[in-house]
Amino acid sequence: AWREPAATAWTRTVCPYCAVGCELEVGVADGRIVAARPALDGPANQGHLCAKGRYAQGYVDAPDRVTAPRLRRNGRWESAGWEEAIACAADGLRRIVAAHGPDAVGVLGSARATNEENYLAQKFARVVLGTNNVDCCARVCHTPSAVALGRMLGAGAATNSFDDIERAACFLVVGANPLENHPVAGARIRQRVRRGARLIVVDPRRTALAAIADVHLPLRPGTDVALLNALAHVLFAEDLLDRDFLAARVDGVEAFAAHVAPWTPERAAGLCGVPPEAIRAAARLYARARPAMCLHGLGLTEHVQGTEGVMALIDLALLTGQIGRPGAGVNPLRGQNNVQGAALMGCEPGSLTGGARLADARDRFAAVWGVAPPATPGLNLLGMLDAARAGRLKALYVIGYDVLASLADARVAAAALARLELVIVQDLFLNETARAFGHVFLPAVSSFEKDGTFTSSERRVQRVRRVLAPRGAALDDAQILCRLAAALGHGASFAQPQAEAVWDEVRRLWPAAAGLSYARLQTRGLQWPCVDAGDPGTAVLHVERFAHGARAVLAPIDPRADDERADADYPFLLGTGRHLHAFNVGTMTGRTPQQALRPTDTLDMHPYDARQLGLGDGMPVRVESRHGDAVLPLRVTDAVAPGRLFATFHDPVRAVNRLTGPRRDTITDTPDYKVTAVRVRPA
Ligand code: SF4
Repeated sequence: AWREPAATAWTRTVCPYCAVGCELEVGVADGRIVAARPALDGPANQGHLCAKGRYAQGYVDAPDRVTAPRLRRNGRWESAGWEEAIACAADGLRRIVAAHGPDAVGVLGSARATNEENYLAQKFARVVLGTNNVDCCARVCHTPSAVALGRMLGAGAATNSFDDIERAACFLVVGANPLENHPVAGARIRQRVRRGARLIVVDPRRTALAAIADVHLPLRPGTDVALLNALAHVLFAEDLLDRDFLAARVDGVEAFAAHVAPWTPERAAGLCGVPPEAIRAAARLYARARPAMCLHGLGLTEHVQGTEGVMALIDLALLTGQIGRPGAGVNPLRGQNNVQGAALMGCEPGSLTGGARLADARDRFAAVWGVAPPATPGLNLLGMLDAARAGRLKALYVIGYDVLASLADARVAAAALARLELVIVQDLFLNETARAFGHVFLPAVSSFEKDGTFTSSERRVQRVRRVLAPRGAALDDAQILCRLAAALGHGASFAQPQAEAVWDEVRRLWPAAAGLSYARLQTRGLQWPCVDAGDPGTAVLHVERFAHGARAVLAPIDPRADDERADADYPFLLGTGRHLHAFNVGTMTGRTPQQALRPTDTLDMHPYDARQLGLGDGMPVRVESRHGDAVLPLRVTDAVAPGRLFATFHDPVRAVNRLTGPRRDTITDTPDYKVTAVRVRPA
């Protein structure tokens, strides 16, 4: 039997998948990855990895990896040299900026790229092109968390650390399925529950975590705010508040009490479909436990009220004093390894590096860059596509992201991409966006072929180390950005693609990262804020004061009426999400042996509904929404309630994102992937 050769060298780096940020050692033989093992002292994983981190590196040498630049000529992709490809991309950008102005171009950074590369991407947009049209895929996942936490507490990031899982006496998990999507953190939660911590799960589905919960609240999709208001109502009604904490650190209590007074559990139960007694039981458990930790996922954020949903969750933590202490807090479980880093580096239209507000920090950045960032507010990802559809955006430079396969309302996204005069895609593979709409393809390298840093969900900046030589002619994103900047006449300010030098520039601009030198990160990742060389980093935020001041203000939130409802034509409500063995749209896991473990996306339906429709397990079914359709094999399971469906979205060909529609979070534009009315029939 054939066996992998034994590794001849091991290099420590960070898992390329979710934002738990597990550290691993990667074994190489004959220039190929042959093994991966967990770092025993990895801060978040402590000797563990999930199946993806351990086994899913095969995409690096997948047969369809593209390792030389390509240009589309006469409708066909042709290989090109770097000089020709860079010149073509630069000429196209120069022409469009000259004809239509800099705001006719958009740039998308990448959660797959390092902090340093994302920093350069937004600097490229602002300095070279002269636009704030820069964003990243945080827009479609946890921007609502960052905005809600930033507004209410002053720092748009998780308040606590994964180690705090061991200290929590109770978990309130809202719209998250960590056993599948953040498996190492999920396993830590499950272990802690087995050792006595209490568990409340708010999720329409009976996930494996919900199955072991003390209280499972299987709410009707999209009713999070009503449910959270009812939990707050119980806190007041049963005097479960932390009065000392409120007196010392929170304003707006009386107004908030008046706001939630009508939100009795009985009233919420009518909207949310959960028993009033379960709501009361959850409120009691959460408030009485010391400490209790909130963890939330995209089930809370990817809604028309995504940001307000997170704000309502923060209200609960403030009312009970479950914040600013170990084992407590409000903690978004970030999906991609460096999605927090991408946004924090400035790949956001309204923020510069470190989350500095564009309006406040232009002079400070001008002092380092030699040129001020443009003053005109930029477009976010959704706004860019709207502008493309309207003919105002002419070019899009997409780094490490498959727009077409990822965005809700895929047909509309396709129509927008089709109108662009120039689409530059920088990735490992010809993804769906490149295949359908790309004009220039710039081959990038995987995280195993470069140096830099990632920022994990717990605000930990960790070193990414080169394990392998870059494949073929592929270059890392920093080198490509610097070449493109040089071709556009900005070689001087983009002369330094070495990761450490770029990071030192980041540290000059972001005071909360000033103490995070490569020398210190060499031995162990550290959590920002870390303001100088003697600062050990910050495991728990908001201990004495909130990041924006001494007091936080409660935010009364009203549930909004949602026009996406099940009706006679579309009788089911569909939510989408991930499963254990695949990651996002499958660009990486789809090219590894993991794919064989669950080779296709599926549609989950309750046995009652399946019987009513005469459908059986494994049957191919056509799912239709008002926005599009998809064919999926059926999985009959009582993990979903009657009338509700769940589909995974890892196969870009099945394209479940054709089903989801145009509804967006009213504050951040994050698409609603969780509530879509659909009908189902045999395919
Ligand atoms: Fe990688 Fe996340 Fe799995 Fe850890 S839990 S090994 S970071 S995918």
